[in-house]
Amino acid sequence: MLDTKTKKIRKELKSILGENLKEKEVLAPYTTFKIGGEADFFLRAERIDELVNAVLVARELNMPYFVLGNGSNILVSDEGFRGLVIKNDCRRIDVIDTKISCLSGAWLEDLVNLSKENSLQGFEFCAGIPGTVGGAVFGNAGAFGKSIGELLEEAVILTSSGNIEIVEKEYFEFDYRESKLRKTKDVLLSTVFKLKKGGKDKIVKKIAENLTKRKKSIPYDKASAGCFFKNIKNKSLSAGYLLDQVGAKNLSVGDAKVFSKHANIIINSKNAKAKEVKRLARILKKKVKVKFNVDLEEEVIYLS
Ligand SMILES: Cc1cc2nc3c(=O)[nH]c(=O)nc-3n(C[C@H](O)[C@H](O)[C@H](O)COP(=O)(O)OP(=O)(O)OC[C@H]3O[C@@H](n4cnc5c(N)ncnc54)[C@H](O)[C@@H]3O)c2cc1C
Repeated sequence: MLDTKTKKIRKELKSILGENLKEKEVLAPYTTFKIGGEADFFLRAERIDELVNAVLVARELNMPYFVLGNGSNILVSDEGFRGLVIKNDCRRIDVIDTKISCLSGAWLEDLVNLSKENSLQGFEFCAGIPGTVGGAVFGNAGAFGKSIGELLEEAVILTSSGNIEIVEKEYFEFDYRESKLRKTKDVLLSTVFKLKKGGKDKIVKKIAENLTKRKKSIPYDKASAGCFFKNIKNKSLSAGYLLDQVGAKNLSVGDAKVFSKHANIIINSKNAKAKEVKRLARILKKKVKVKFNVDLEEEVIYLS
């Protein structure tokens, strides 16, 4: 039974967000981990005004909300999310000379392909990262020593105070797997990336090389959220190395297992629960703390 307050919020949400608003939507299929319970409310935003409107409405109603990209860096709790999940499907991309302008729901894969077609160099390292621009900028996604913040020139954000602003790269305070978006309630709406003209053959070769390297250590045929913990920034230590040293590859809790070829990846081998993944993560952190006195920090975001 819904209480009076929830009924009122539900009515208001429906009246403002319209028929596209879903209720009790299971989140597992919207994540690469394939784990997670229901969101009370769920809206797919295909246009930027829908995205902005949904965020503003949630804020206005004091309702928890979560902007979801491709769900490739999150672990949703088994109990789901008491609030509104806004799935960002705003995917438009335009190539203008050596710049790529795109909406924040654009897929990295599409940026990789479009830059290749236009002989633009810079996005090769993103080949095989299954996220959207919003999620990638949020966590300054990267690989092979490069990260997305390096390419960003300017962006449009919806600030925590509800303004729409154009900001430059410096605004994001990019660092290893960090950006200001992690600390603020800003929502990324669109971005302009600056690339370099390059030889198409060289770009194609680089992408193929990167994908070959990734396929050796990343379980593309299994459900996961990529690397679970961040590397140790100041010590330049890889979390995978430390985890390997504590025997992580042999560990599992229920259907949550450490991937046999990469100790920093937890896979959902069948029907893992979020609580099993979290328990496994706690065990891994403890082992690394005891042996190396290092505190591993999650790269994956817990949504509960
Ligand atoms: C097989 C595999 C390989 C991976 N390899 C890599 C890798 O090499 N390097 C790497 O860095 N990551 C990697 N990842 C992790 C993940 O793909 C990236 O972090 C990706 O950029 C996340 O994007 P997403 O759209 O899926 O974000 P989501 O998981 O949907 O969201 C992540 C966070 O971003 C926030 N967010 C999303 N959109 C916006 C927005 N528009 N405005 C504000 N906040 C927003 C969300 O609220 C959430 O807090 C990998 C994951 C998998 C499954």
